[in-house]
Amino acid sequence: MKVYKFGGASVRSADGVRNLCDIVQSEPDDLFVIVSAMGKTTNALEGVLESFMAGQREAAQAAFAVSEAYHREIIAGLFGNGVTIPAVESLFGEVKNLLDSCEPRSEEYELWYDRLVGYGELISTTIIATYLNHSGQPCRWIDMRRCFLTDTRHKDANIDIARSTPRLLEAIHKDEGPDSAFSPVGDRTTSCIATPHTARRGRLFIGQGFIGGTPEGEPTTLGREGSDYSAAVAAYILDAESLSIWKDVEGILNADPKIFPDTRYIPELTYLDAIELAYSGAQIIHPKTIKPLQNKNIPLYVRPFGDKSRPGSVIKGEMKGRIDVPILILKHNQVLISIRPNDFSFVLEDRFAGIFSLLERYNVKINLIQSSAVNLSLCVDRSRHLPEVAKELHRQQYRVVYNDTMELLTIRGYTPALYTQYGNGPGVYLTQKTRKIVRIVRKVEPQP
Ligand code: ASP
Ligand code: MG
Repeated sequence: MKVYKFGGASVRSADGVRNLCDIVQSEPDDLFVIVSAMGKTTNALEGVLESFMAGQREAAQAAFAVSEAYHREIIAGLFGNGVTIPAVESLFGEVKNLLDSCEPRSEEYELWYDRLVGYGELISTTIIATYLNHSGQPCRWIDMRRCFLTDTRHKDANIDIARSTPRLLEAIHKDEGPDSAFSPVGDRTTSCIATPHTARRGRLFIGQGFIGGTPEGEPTTLGREGSDYSAAVAAYILDAESLSIWKDVEGILNADPKIFPDTRYIPELTYLDAIELAYSGAQIIHPKTIKPLQNKNIPLYVRPFGDKSRPGSVIKGEMKGRIDVPILILKHNQVLISIRPNDFSFVLEDRFAGIFSLLERYNVKINLIQSSAVNLSLCVDRSRHLPEVAKELHRQQYRVVYNDTMELLTIRGYTPALYTQYGNGPGVYLTQKTRKIVRIVRKVEPQP
């Protein structure tokens, strides 16, 4: 068994879905495919949720109508105008009912997030499974809400691998006939539009990234970009021989080419390199992805969606050489918080515990810690809960100040020239340096 994962950018159009089918076709053995929501659907559904939570039903329905139209266009591109897929129609209906029939309470934001936003993946996988079935590659659609049991940390849930294992194995081993919901209906025959493929030798499964469910059956999501994590856990449970993440990039680069000049491609990395990179904010893979793969020594290939003949990059246990280029990672949406006890008592270990457990309770992600005699500075991901955290800290007699227009630049394997270039200047608020890594908290430059 191999596991493939396709991100939203790869399946943002009918052409993308056709390309996915071609890639899947070239792997004849058992394959488990994890797919994200199409294009920018997750962002769009987050927009729907904002209106819904604000009690603006019409605006929420109107925003969802845009997303629905986008998916209909892809279905038309795959099957022809006027064709509908009953299973997709049901999903559209479920979203519209949900938006109409409920009065959300603002403190249940995360719960509603998971009830609504996961539909992006349900819709994308249903469209893709239907297309695969129609193009001669029979597949089984797997409902990951039932296979991945998670905790109840809504919007950032963790998969309970031990309890999910029997569920996922059962879903792929049980004998099921073809599902009639996966046939499109319309005013013309569809067989001429779906490109016919030769039948596969192995079995093919299609599951959603990014979603799971609690033991009580509430849907959960695993955090933005969480489909990589889903794919890694599936690979772990299925004892996959490898995981391939298909992306719209050549492979792993040493920096984001949109931000830094002279980027270079890195053909090989170790799990250790990769986990550090992902943690520092490299967009290439979700930070939770590496652990399940490392635990079973499953190699991870990052491969270019546009050209399946190219090698991409591989992440694995050991590599022959060393990475010989500095790696630059910029993490956006950072907040620098400075916390000081009002009475000037030393900020010492006993106080850390209280502060960190408060941040943990509000699910605020800490990226950098620096302490001095009476001050604790933390660089954290921006969060809607920060005002509540600050209020609680005030109550506990701390003075709290924060600056929320920051970014965190990490340079691994920095050179003196890079340090001079990025480590100084009026926008730099804090730096932390070891022999190998420098981390710089700096103010975001205002856009001209
Ligand atoms: N669709 C989700 C997101 O955009 C999950 C993912 O793509 O990995 O964050
Ligand atoms: Mg995505």
